[in-house]
Amino acid sequence: MSGHERKVPIRTCVSCRVSSEKKRLVRIVRTGDGDVVIDPSGKLPGRGAYLCGLSECTAAAIKANKLGRALRCEIPERLKEELKKLGNDED
Ligand SMILES: [Zn+2]
Repeated sequence: MSGHERKVPIRTCVSCRVSSEKKRLVRIVRTGDGDVVIDPSGKLPGRGAYLCGLSECTAAAIKANKLGRALRCEIPERLKEELKKLGNDED
């Protein structure tokens, strides 16, 4: 029986492994051209990975290359800078 299915998609932060609603996480996508971008819409096609958005967690993900491993590619410096600015925990 499946009467208690979740109504919202749940994803896991690649760094701290916390599960949360997809829309509360930051989606990072490796696009078809091999670029890596932040995807606020959550709709870009490509291989996706999720971060919870806490700056500490993002820093750890970059340092340990968890994002690169999840996406199986190099994370461009430009994207690392963008991610560092995100910081969900500043307010
Ligand atoms: Zn996290």
